[in-house]
Order: sequence, then C-alpha cells, then structure tokens
Amino acid sequence: MVAGADGQALVALDRETQFHPFTAIADQQGNGALVMARASGSSITDVSGKTYLDGAAGLWCVNVGYGRAEISDAIHRQSLELPYFHSFNTVANEPSIRLSERLLKLAPDGMRRVFYGQSGSDANDTAVKMLWSYNMLRGKPEKRKIISRSYAYHGVTAAAGSLSGIPMVHQNFGLPLDFARHVSRPDFYRDAPARDCATEESYSAFLAQELEETILTEEADTVAGFIAEPVMGTGGVLPPPAGYFEAIAKVLDKHDVRLVADEVITGFGRVGAWFASELYGIEPDLIVTAKGLTSGYLPLSAVLVGERIWSVFEEASRDGRPFAHGFTYSGHPTCAAAALANLDILEREKLVERVAAMAPSFRSYFAETLLNLRLVGDVRSAGFMMGVELVADRATKAAFPASLKVAGRVALSARRRGVLVRALPNSDVIALSPPFVVTEAELSRLAETLRDAIDEVTADLV
Ligand code: PLP
Repeated sequence: MVAGADGQALVALDRETQFHPFTAIADQQGNGALVMARASGSSITDVSGKTYLDGAAGLWCVNVGYGRAEISDAIHRQSLELPYFHSFNTVANEPSIRLSERLLKLAPDGMRRVFYGQSGSDANDTAVKMLWSYNMLRGKPEKRKIISRSYAYHGVTAAAGSLSGIPMVHQNFGLPLDFARHVSRPDFYRDAPARDCATEESYSAFLAQELEETILTEEADTVAGFIAEPVMGTGGVLPPPAGYFEAIAKVLDKHDVRLVADEVITGFGRVGAWFASELYGIEPDLIVTAKGLTSGYLPLSAVLVGERIWSVFEEASRDGRPFAHGFTYSGHPTCAAAALANLDILEREKLVERVAAMAPSFRSYFAETLLNLRLVGDVRSAGFMMGVELVADRATKAAFPASLKVAGRVALSARRRGVLVRALPNSDVIALSPPFVVTEAELSRLAETLRDAIDEVTADLV
C-alpha cells in the first residue's frame, strides 16, 4: 500500500492526468481526489491510511463485500485458461454459457436468452435497440418511442442518457434524443399531495392514467416501450407506490407497449429478492442487469430477453439475418467467471435471504435514529436501499435551495467521520446501500454517524 507522502503525490498526479466522471474540475483541482487503496468486508482504506465504512457499496454494487478471494481466484484461473475471446458469429465460451444457464434459472419466469455487455448504460442501449429491431421485424418501423420517467437514471450513453431523466445528464449534451419521452416519477412523499392523492393506490392510478394519456398523445403506434427502475435509485430511492406496476402493466398491454425493468441496482438481491420484478409482481419483456452481477469485481452487464421479444427475433432470423449489435467484450469469459463466483457466494451464504431478514430492522433503526431530526423529512427503503430526504421545513416539505448543497455537506461530514454515504445529484437525498455482509454493529455506526453529520450541518444552517 502507498501511504503518507506517496498518497499526496498520487493526489497531485491525479490532478494533472485524470478526467473524472461526474466531477466538477474545480473540486478535483481544489480538494483533490480521495484516492482509495484497499478494502475488505464493508470497509475501504484510502492512501493516507484512513479507513471508512462504505455505506454505499461503491456505487450500489459491491454486494458481497470487498476482499473476496474466491472471486479473485476465479478471475485468476480463468484469465490463465482463456482470458478473452469474443462471442460474435456463433463463438462461445464455457463461463458465459454456464452463467446464462444460471441467470435464466434465477430470473423471473418467461426469460428466454441472455445478451452480455459491460455496463448498465450499454445494456440499456442494447434494450433500446432490441425494442427498435423487434418492432421493425414485426413490420412496425414507426413504433420507436420509449417512455421513461423524470429523474430516472438509466446511464449516460446517448440512448440510455436520453432515457435518464436527471437534468444534469441532458444539459450541455443536447439530450434527450427525440425517441425518448418522460412521465412523472412515482414520489409518494413529495409529489402525491400535489396531485391530491391521499393513498398510494390512488397515486398509482393517477400515474397510470398519466402514462396512458402520454401514449395516446404520442399515438400508440409510435410507442415501443416503457422503462422503469423497480425502485428508482439515483432519482431519490423511490419504492413503487402500492399497485403501481399492476396499473402500469394494464396500460402497456392495452397499447402493445413492451416493459423494460432496469434492475441494474435492484438485481441480485439488493431489495431482498433475486429480482425486484419478483417482489413487485412485474412481468418485464426485458430485464437489464449489471452492478450486482459481479458485485463490481469486473465490469459485466446482461440483458435478459423475454419470450415476446425473443420469439420475434427467432422467427425473423430464419432467413439468416443476424441481430447486428454487440461488443468486443460481450460474453467476456473472465467477467463471466467473476459473476459465477459472485453468485456462488450469494447462494452459499444466503445473502439475499439475509437482506430480506435484516431489512425491517435496517429501516426501523434508521427511522428511529433520524426521523426526529428537524432536517429529516422522510426515510424510505426497500431491502438494503434507503433514501433519507432532507428538508428545510418538515411541515411543508419545502426543500433547501440547491445552492446550499445540504445533502453534499452531510455526506462530506460523514466522510470526515469515517463513513461513506452518497448525496444524490438531484435533490437533498442521502442514499444508503450497504454491502449485504454489513454487520448490525456497522449498521448502527452508519446510522449514528449520519445523525451526527446531519446535526453538524443543521448547526451550520440554523
Ligand atoms: N441503470 C441504473 C438503474 C443505474 O443505477 C445505473 C448506474 O448507476 C445505470 C443504469 C448505468 O450503469 P453504468 O454506470 O454501469 O453504465
């Protein structure tokens, strides 16, 4: 490990060499990067030797925790045996075949094939192109628009970034592209009262009606798909209101619109079920996964293709036309080996069951510790995903001016205290998504540190 003076040199070198994602260059030049060195379990240590409890599992992804020699060994073995080969033109490798078999067994009913990429963004682009191609093959070339939701996060590539609904992802890029439309996010805490919806069910009915009106305004013959994160992550950690996906499904079926479940965060256990689609009774045509598939040890994404779409590709390919889409790294054997080892750990240690069992106490512990603070408006969660919304006035739910960066200041204070949490980009929401192996003692430290950080920022603000 590098420490002390070497660490300072790395921060300086980073300033001179690296262009960071989602980073204001002024911050990198000013404060400098937090340079990470090593990690184990739920803890990560920077180059100065300071150790943090990682309450965010990286970017919602290190589900089995850090330092899993079993995954590193699998990567090592596979890279000695067959580090890489492509999957174009009917070429395959054993790890990706074994992984596909396993994913189809774990997935909700009706999934027929697996298509691999390397990130959540490219997997969403793949889903878009599958919908376009599916409709062209069905003789409906005009049926191309895809409806997403405001504040959704589906990634940053041109198509996925268009589906994202976070303004910063569009600004300065001329996005969204013209195939994308956005309806309202399902935010029961903040948006339902403004719609006069007193119950979750009535709010779900309102949102389904809004979706139907959008489809009719756009004309159903031009609408190919609807994409949703089962629990919206980066847009605020928003679990669906009761009855939401049932109400949406009726609208989609009526207008021949396919459903894409973006399970990049929720897939592989984060909500206490292997897939959130199971938990919420969603029957998607495509399921998009990445992150938890390898717990972030190597980059890998997988789009699971359901019967309705697969059968059209299968039929169309009888005349020899390929699905002309794919990546150099599609079906990467070493990444697939990492995913297989990750799934072994999840199954053997019953980590998905662990998340389900611990979820109620995770929620109530944070709610008890935080809900009486004057800045905390809402604590909401699904499994091991939690959002803590900070407000200027709890009675009116008035937000702080964005310029105060309240959630960002709380996250920085927690970091100084040795705990990593994420301030979400679009509102004052702190997101928590600990590794599935987090202990009760670590959860209690996480909640108490977050309380102290909120107290510190409250003292500055009032
Ligand atoms: N979809 C969801 C729901 C995500 O949360 C993310 C990333 O956070 C993505 C897609 C994009 O994934 P990636 O950053 O791997 O491109």
